Amino acid sequence: MSGWATAKPAWVFAGVLLILIFLGWGRFPGMLRGWFYTVCREYGRVNLETSTRGLQETESAHFRVRCQPSDSDVADMVLEAAERVYEPINDALGFRPQGKVLIVIYPTSLELGKSFGWPADQSALGVYWMGTIRVLSPKAWITDESDFDERFWAAGPIAHEYTHFVVDHLTRGNYPRWLTEGLAQREDRDLTGFVFNVDGENLAEQKPYRLDQLDSDFDDRPDQMLAYWQSLAAVEFMDEHYSIDRIKDLINLLGRGYNQEVAFRATFGISFDEFEAGYQFWLQKYIPTTDPLEQVAATEGSI
Ligand SMILES: [Zn+2]
Repeated sequence: MSGWATAKPAWVFAGVLLILIFLGWGRFPGMLRGWFYTVCREYGRVNLETSTRGLQETESAHFRVRCQPSDSDVADMVLEAAERVYEPINDALGFRPQGKVLIVIYPTSLELGKSFGWPADQSALGVYWMGTIRVLSPKAWITDESDFDERFWAAGPIAHEYTHFVVDHLTRGNYPRWLTEGLAQREDRDLTGFVFNVDGENLAEQKPYRLDQLDSDFDDRPDQMLAYWQSLAAVEFMDEHYSIDRIKDLINLLGRGYNQEVAFRATFGISFDEFEAGYQFWLQKYIPTTDPLEQVAATEGSI
């Protein structure tokens, strides 16, 4: 009986909270979804913090790197790359993280994949997930020892994954996948010069994906190169026709919990379908190459 008496206030509190969430979900669904997402993300972050506690840790002004002893010699290089992208990406998108961002280095693709439960054939140089960045050890994919640091800077995943971190926090998880993939590639390209090599992909002969296909089903698209390239092109399209400040306005509205339709209409003065139509029309007007910026310049005013 005493156990019930002790637990009662907690149950009453939980019950009242559930009722408030239930009532509020109808009136403020976006706000509550953002709050719920933030709690889940924090849970994921703490989980990784706890499960990697035994690893070696090195830190810089804004990041902490955890790795196995075999990768301790690359930890400083990873931190240095992270510090190089920190201010420019924060400034570009208008964000300032609280605390130091955790980066975990995994020695092999298998171990990186295992941390997510991925199949063994899945490969990635880096992943942003739930408030943390995980990267494959540079020693696993840079085979040429000369200019090791430069090779990591020019082709490494830090700028890309840190942009995902920033977009996720600004929007509280309320973003279309193509938007974060486009922004991540754009920041990466502007900072390190890296672009996916789409030469020889015959993008001009392929049917472009719709943006809604590049949101919920991004990873299921059969042509991943086209999916990534189109995402970058969508951000270039927005910048070209509306400016980076409008993109920041869009992110701000998404972060306040507005759904995509409302956020696009408030930002660009058109529905999402009209935005999509304009983007698809613009996309047909130029021949895809590795760098969409060249195409933007070549088709100025085509919409
Ligand atoms: Zn990405």
